[in-house]
Amino acid sequence: MQNLAEILTKKELESVFDRIQAIVAVVDIEGKLVSWNTAFEKGKSQFPNANNLLDFFNQRERDILKSRLAEGVQDQWMGELPFTENGAAVFYEFSLIPISNNQILFIAERITSDADAEAAVEKLRKQVKLFQVESEFSKKLARNKQIEMEAVLAQAQEVAHVDPLTFLPNRRTIVKDLQNEVLRAERYHSTLSISVLDLDNFKTINDTYGHPMGDEVLRQVAIQLRDSVRHPDVVGRYGGEEFLILLPNSDATAAAEQANRLCRQIRNKVVHAREQDIQVTISIGIAQFRVGEDSWHSLLKRADNAMYAAKNNGRDRWLIAE
Ligand code: GH3
Ligand code: MG
Ligand code: MG
Repeated sequence: MQNLAEILTKKELESVFDRIQAIVAVVDIEGKLVSWNTAFEKGKSQFPNANNLLDFFNQRERDILKSRLAEGVQDQWMGELPFTENGAAVFYEFSLIPISNNQILFIAERITSDADAEAAVEKLRKQVKLFQVESEFSKKLARNKQIEMEAVLAQAQEVAHVDPLTFLPNRRTIVKDLQNEVLRAERYHSTLSISVLDLDNFKTINDTYGHPMGDEVLRQVAIQLRDSVRHPDVVGRYGGEEFLILLPNSDATAAAEQANRLCRQIRNKVVHAREQDIQVTISIGIAQFRVGEDSWHSLLKRADNAMYAAKNNGRDRWLIAE
């Protein structure tokens, strides 16, 4: 397959950048804006004085972004940008990609509107339906074709919902599940807690043993989590080395019991891969849903903040959000 960038002219590439929904900018290592696309300009127009990427982030995310830019490594995480018409913050997936001249490519893709995979599945589903109707004419041939298409549909559905590295529900799926659980908790005033888990000092593992080993550690931790988290709780991969657990009908105390167990299990587990033994720990932030106060997004934020506080308190521990 030929590289896209080799086929497209510079002008064509520019027009791609200006048509896509994703927010794209080139910044220097201090975050100063060098160049940006139309989607960025649209959001930026509400902040006429901003000339630094950091200006669009809240204090805590600003600090994180600052250190990420300074480190100049490729990274991906989730957070908020106030780029809506009314200035309200919405969730994005951010990517940083170091490019030449000490500059960094910043990409932000909206999570809730990122329905591409869902749309593809929906299209296939319609095709399968259509085929069922037409198949009155040549039943046998049609049956084989239908089986084939259903297999493709099943595969597409899996691709849209499962994280390929860990086989856990991917971020889109687990966030959607979270949204549904919050709706349920609001409607029925039922209890709901969530836990945000993050591997401790994971960068050191990548740096010491290499990225493929890092992947293997992630896979084994994911297996451990999947095996320890029981129905109706669900666990998904919500970021690079971050996982999200939903605990319907559980209060923060129950979530803390689970967190305690998970911290212990991961701490005691020796990940064995490529003739190496590696030990990892996790930090967990817990938040219990507050009816009338929380949105899915503030709940996630509170758990995330508690997770960072657990890190600051020494890692390998859990903390319940206030
Ligand atoms: P902390 O205890 O504060 O969380 O330290 P940390 O090193 O884990 O924190 P940080 O978030 O800075 O680093 C996370 C690293 O995880 C950076 C990124 O390269 C790595 N990472 C993210 N996704 C993957 C992945 O899919 N595979 C591998 N091997 N590494 C990943
Ligand atoms: Mg980490
Ligand atoms: Mg992390």
